Amino acid sequence: MHELAIAQALVDQVQEAADAQKAKRVVSIRVVVGTLSGVDPEALRMAFTLAAEETPLQGAELAVEAVTATVRCADCQAVSTPEPPFVYCTECKSRNVAIETGRELYIKSAEIETEA
Ligand SMILES: [Zn+2]
Repeated sequence: MHELAIAQALVDQVQEAADAQKAKRVVSIRVVVGTLSGVDPEALRMAFTLAAEETPLQGAELAVEAVTATVRCADCQAVSTPEPPFVYCTECKSRNVAIETGRELYIKSAEIETEA
């Protein structure tokens, strides 16, 4: 389950930012996950719960923002949105396409609670 490694990296990254701001705890984090990133949002959520244990992120809410896959066709120039995990032009069925969106995987924001 590679989601665990990804969740661990998310926790490390947010914890670093939280430490820098002398945060008491992290309330929630929002991550952007493309539908072609190979990350399953449900698995990521479970992995995140595990990775957040014993850290300021314990109990934090994980919001996953999905990004639809879009590809640009090199043959007919159409921009289309194939159904992942398949990557092809839905207009002419060509596989000669460039992925424009869908591979995203990053933290968009984190809500941090600091000492009052
Ligand atoms: Zn095409």
